This record gives sequence, C-alpha cells and structure tokens, in this order.
Amino acid sequence: MAVELDPLVAIYEDLHRHPELGRQEHRTAGIVAGRLRALGYDVATGVGGTGVVGVLDRGRGGTVLLRADMDALPVLEDTGLPYASTATATDANGESVPVMHACGHDLHTTCLLGAAAALAEDNSWQGRLMLVFQPDEEGGGGAQAMVDDGIFARFGTPEVVLGQHVAPLPVGVLGVRPGPAFAASDALRITLHGRGGHGSRPEATVDPVVMGAALVQRLQTVVSREVAATETVVVTVGSFHAGVAPNVIPDSAVLGLSVRTTDEAVRVGVLAAIERMVRAEAAAADAPRPPEIEVLHTFPPVVNDAAASERVREAFSAAGRWIVVDPGPVTGSEDVGILAAAAGAPCAYWLLGGADPALFAGAETLEEIRTAVADLPSNHSPRYAPLAAPALESGVAALVTAARSWLS
Ligand SMILES: [Zn+2]
Ligand SMILES: [Zn+2]
Repeated sequence: MAVELDPLVAIYEDLHRHPELGRQEHRTAGIVAGRLRALGYDVATGVGGTGVVGVLDRGRGGTVLLRADMDALPVLEDTGLPYASTATATDANGESVPVMHACGHDLHTTCLLGAAAALAEDNSWQGRLMLVFQPDEEGGGGAQAMVDDGIFARFGTPEVVLGQHVAPLPVGVLGVRPGPAFAASDALRITLHGRGGHGSRPEATVDPVVMGAALVQRLQTVVSREVAATETVVVTVGSFHAGVAPNVIPDSAVLGLSVRTTDEAVRVGVLAAIERMVRAEAAAADAPRPPEIEVLHTFPPVVNDAAASERVREAFSAAGRWIVVDPGPVTGSEDVGILAAAAGAPCAYWLLGGADPALFAGAETLEEIRTAVADLPSNHSPRYAPLAAPALESGVAALVTAARSWLS
C-alpha cells in the first residue's frame, strides 16, 4: 500500500488550523466531499446535518463501514504548533468560544481520507466500501442524527462497523479490546436556584454559589461511597458558572456533569444518586425553587464484537508493523456504537497510538507505558498534539488493514 504522506499532512494541518464545533463542520465536510469525489466515490453530503457518506461499490461482497468523526472542542489551543488553531465560533448557547481539535478528530478524518485513497487505488478487492464522516461526536448527537436521517436505508447496511480513536499511546501501538471497550456517557446540566441579593447581606439571600460548592463536594461521594470498588465509574463536574461580581450574590448556579459507566445497572444507580444529592442540597439550602436537571446527551457503551475485534487484532498482528495491546476498558466514550447498533452490525473500534515514541523511551511493559501516558497531555487538553506524520501513516494503514480483512 503506497500512501503519499505529504498531501495528507497538509490536509491534517489545514483541518487542525480550521477546527469546527459539532454540527458546524461545513468547511471540513466540503473538503472531505471534494477529496472523495476526486477519488471516484459516490458522495452524499448533509447526512444528519453536516455528515458525509462516500461509497465505492465494486459488487460481489458485503458492505464494510469505516467511520471517522469531524468535530472539534471549545478549547483554547496551547500547543505552540506552527499550525495551531486561533479559531473561534459561536457555541450552542450563543457564546463566542475558542475552538481546537483537542480530541484528534482531525487526525481521524485525515486518516480516513488517506484510507479512501489507498483503497480506491487498490484493485485487488471486491465488495462495497462505505466511508462515514460523522458530525458532532463530542455533543453525542452526530451518530444518532445520521441514523435518524436514514443512513442505512439510503446507503446500505454494513456487515461490520470499523473505526479508531487516537490516544496518547506511542505511534506504532494499537489497542484492541473485545467486549465493553468505551464507557457509557451521560452529560447533565444542573441549575440550582437561589435568591440573589447584596453581597453584604447574605442572610437575606439563598446563595447558589455555596449550594453549588457543597454539591460539588457531595458528588465526589457517589463514586467513593456508593459504588463498589470493582466497578468503573467517573463523575466529573466539568463546569460551574455562577455570578458576575464579588459583591452580588447571584440568583442561580449552573453545573455541567459528565458521568461515565460501563454497567447499565450501575449507571442507573449513579444517575439516581446524583439526582438525590442535587435535590437534597437544594432542600438543605432552603432553595426557593427546586433544581432542574437536564440531560444534554446520553450514549451507550461501545461494546466491541468478540469475533470482529479478534479478526481485526489478527490482521494487525499479521501485518507485523504494530505492537497490539489490550488497553483494558477506557472511561472515554464514543457514539460509534450507535451506528453499529442501528445497523445491527458488529463493531470493532480500536485505539491508535499517536504520541511521539521518544516520550516512552525505556518503557516496555504495558504498566510502564501507562506510567508514561499519565505524564502526557491527554485528549481534550489544550496541549494535546499527536505526532502528525507517523500517526497518519499508522492510522491509514490500520484502517486499510482492518477493511481488507473483510473486503475479499
Ligand atoms: Zn473527545
Ligand atoms: Zn474523540
């Protein structure tokens, strides 16, 4: 497989410099559609909003779906890279925010374009290739939007759903995990209502800042005191907004929570505990109105099909160019499982090492690699920066290798 790396690096740097938030990936989708058309794919745009589907049909065989996501995050980039983003955008709340490809979806998109080229040039396979460039993974609505837009009725039902996520593992390492591989994700917005007033007279108010602060602390006991130590659960308060001036007690406080679980019964219990604590904290503060708990998104765990992930793992091992590891369950989340579930197809979704191997010098066991990983900027960090060229080369090859283990 010959992949021309320089043009791919150029596309990657361009996408990185011009990141777009979920549901706003118009420029990215345009670049993707243009490249796919030039390679001879049948292309549909606007699928589920800004999604793009490219199909290459050579007949006599099943459909293999390769998926990449295109959206970026409201993060102010601090990588110092020559192609760093300085972009801003208006988010769903109407606020201007910095935008950065802090999760590496620019790498996913570019790798899939590289695989599109390699597979189009390769005349030795038959079957049907379906490339899905999905919007709004971070918001959790992109895969569902493409399903709701009839992606499988319009473009065919795949026999397998394949994809990858870049991770702070060394380039050259791939992580394949059969069974539950990525956690379920629930995002909540909690509005605590107080009664605002003068900062000098708290006795005449109900202070939502104190209420919120107490709640943040109390929520830490969900995982530490209510969940068995053998379960994998994360409860993170990622945002807390209240007030604008030191001498004004505000009317309300708004908290954003991210909840990750791998077991449905545990998930139900954790969400119930959060609701109980939110209501109790408001009652304890004598809030004038009950709090509101809104579900911003919810998506299921990614469960890798045992046979499909074994087939992918074997193909990666046989290629002889990667170290293939089982990374264990990841508390990160992904909505790729929604595509697989809606298609009724097995899913194999793996981790792609994207970090400079020099940062892992001397680390040989998975434990030593994990220790090195802990010191690296992770996905969603303002300093997250995969080593572009080798990560692209590895990611393109991984997609092609996995696809070819189905395309005969
Ligand atoms: Zn992400
Ligand atoms: Zn991501």
